[in-house]
Amino acid sequence: MAGFFDNKIDFIKGVGPAKAALLNKELNIFTFRDLLQHYPFRHEDRSKVYTIAEIQEEMPYVQFKARLMGFAWKGEGKKKRLTAIAQDHTGQIELVWFKGQQMILRILKPGAVYMVFGKPARFGRSYSIAHPEMEIDSPAIAQRPTLQPVYSTTEKLKSRYLDSKGIAAIVMELLPQALPQIRETLPGSLLDRYKMVDKAEAVKNRHFPENAELLKKADFRLRFEELFYLQVRILKLKLGRVQKSKTKVMDQTTLLKTFYSNYLPFELTGAQKRVVKEIYEDLKSGQQMNRLLQGDVGSGKTIVAFLSMLIALSNGTQVCMMAPTEILANQHYEGLKPLAATMNLKLELLTGSIKGKKRQEIFDGIAEGSIHILVGTHALIEDKVVFRNLGMAIIDEQHRFGVAQRGKLWRKNRLYPPHILVMTATPIPRTLAMTVYGDLDVSVIDELPKGRKPIQTLHKYDSHRLWVFGFIKNQIEAGRQVYVVYPLIDESEALDLKYLFDGFESLEKAFPNIPISLVHGKQKAEDKEFEMQRFVKGETKIMAATTVIEVGVNVPNATVMVIENAERFGLAQLHQLRGRVGRGGEQSYCLLMTGLKLTKEAKLRIDTMVRTNNGFEIAETDLNLRGPGDIQGTKHTGLLELVIADLSKDGKLLQEARACAIEILDHDPELELPEHRGIRQQIDKQRQNDLNWSKIS
Ligand code: ADP
Ligand code: MG
Repeated sequence: MAGFFDNKIDFIKGVGPAKAALLNKELNIFTFRDLLQHYPFRHEDRSKVYTIAEIQEEMPYVQFKARLMGFAWKGEGKKKRLTAIAQDHTGQIELVWFKGQQMILRILKPGAVYMVFGKPARFGRSYSIAHPEMEIDSPAIAQRPTLQPVYSTTEKLKSRYLDSKGIAAIVMELLPQALPQIRETLPGSLLDRYKMVDKAEAVKNRHFPENAELLKKADFRLRFEELFYLQVRILKLKLGRVQKSKTKVMDQTTLLKTFYSNYLPFELTGAQKRVVKEIYEDLKSGQQMNRLLQGDVGSGKTIVAFLSMLIALSNGTQVCMMAPTEILANQHYEGLKPLAATMNLKLELLTGSIKGKKRQEIFDGIAEGSIHILVGTHALIEDKVVFRNLGMAIIDEQHRFGVAQRGKLWRKNRLYPPHILVMTATPIPRTLAMTVYGDLDVSVIDELPKGRKPIQTLHKYDSHRLWVFGFIKNQIEAGRQVYVVYPLIDESEALDLKYLFDGFESLEKAFPNIPISLVHGKQKAEDKEFEMQRFVKGETKIMAATTVIEVGVNVPNATVMVIENAERFGLAQLHQLRGRVGRGGEQSYCLLMTGLKLTKEAKLRIDTMVRTNNGFEIAETDLNLRGPGDIQGTKHTGLLELVIADLSKDGKLLQEARACAIEILDHDPELELPEHRGIRQQIDKQRQNDLNWSKIS
């Protein structure tokens, strides 16, 4: 049902079809709702009027009252510009126009007093302001609200008078009709608790605030609301699932106990113990587990996975573990093999390259139940794979799998849904985990096993290459191995490979007697595997590669990770790459190579890597640098299309909003109470429409 807010912007006075089409195209603004939700990204404070003598270079904007003196042309050709002097009782300043000069000459009146607004720039000892906003001084200016909205816009829109001011004008036109139509949806109890303004007032003040205090209140209310509905939606999803997915109670632990007291290869860290407990609580609850296990590379997720498997196996079921690549699946298989052997459990590997008779044997073993643990790639979810009794599925690096694939695992047992444990070594900040994985429970291994030598990370400029080569040589002479990674610059394969091949050549020159592997994504799978294996076996000492080695490879003897053009990598990727070393007992190193010139952001990324090995800290910084949209694991979830809240900044508020949502749903899970009717209507509407949680309706 289309309502008032679904009206097309063409119907607003002053917006003809041409402007409407442009707004559609440039800013995705189609309806009244879209326009109202195109909130200004900041407001300019026009309350302060400076004198010219007070103006300083670092001021972002200044406003002052001054008399316009005569015009003058300066410069020649392309540099030709119109200038004017503005003067008050404290001094003079130059105004400059590079474009639209004829219009300026026509409109501005020398001799008149103007309110001037703009950004000061310094030239030698004097200041100038390019393209200032000018308005004849009048009593009306003092009457006006002092906070002016600044809207994002585009060059194309600006050329059609839809600059920030132009957009403000059409919002101003729409608001009086729109405000009476805006309904409150939050319950009074929440409005009271946080002393929130009502929705219509918030919308109005978020665009055109009467003062700073009201702007703050409006902003808080809208952010809170958006995060609140986001959480209500996510929690409802989870609630629905918990109610639906009753499953097998797994309270037996005989195998776990036997293993624990006889074969546990090391003492568990506190974090590992805690997580195993959390998992056991889920497994014995009778409700399907959907848990995310986050833990940095090397934090010891494998043993936790195995102990969880043992619980499921103690209850007479089978388990499987799915990884996104063959290399990873292989590695899990190799890692679990010695553990499974201690308990006489039958473990098998199923990937695309296992064919023929062996493949059939595996299918049979799974169907009969003689295979207890099956590790593999997505080959696991093919229809041919029929388990006798699958009780638990572990998924590694799930962001590489789609929802559909996860769903397929669920249906691998017809009697009851298997418990699901998702593992990731890509740490996600808490705020994001609550949102992206809001329907999963989250466990974190935030402690490394004792006695680890933290990897030392050094930043080296290209000019230190000789030193770096010397360092590599020493390490190889000491019996170690070395990775050298080259960036994936862009989609152009040729260029990427050029970096790699050039690098490979210079390595061959520098280390003529040392065998070097070369691995990249464009190789045939067999060739790649062959080269990898040579390195794994220690036949080659250096591996030159693109980022294909990011996940997977486990070579404990490799102690040096050299990352070329490190400034081109994102933080998450740098951290993943660094995690390839430091897996054995020896001190490991990560050398970040860059050119001399670094952007501020690149410098911050490198400094962060040098400063800390903590994946969560790195993930927080990454989130602040890039915003949530780009963080691995968040793409395509659709959850992050927030209009006004910002997950990289609103972490606290998100927790607050989540707590409120939990409180309300605990008390009234179906949102049936009269005071929750507004919430319910709101989420019903959203469900029909799209993912715009706090949408005006
Ligand atoms: P992850 O999969 O989280 O990257 P792994 O499970 O592969 O990490 O563990 C990394 C290494 O640390 C392995 O060699 C493992 O045997 C070892 N390890 C794991 N937990 C402990 C522990 N509590 N004490 C000592 N070593 C451990
Ligand atoms: Mg692992």
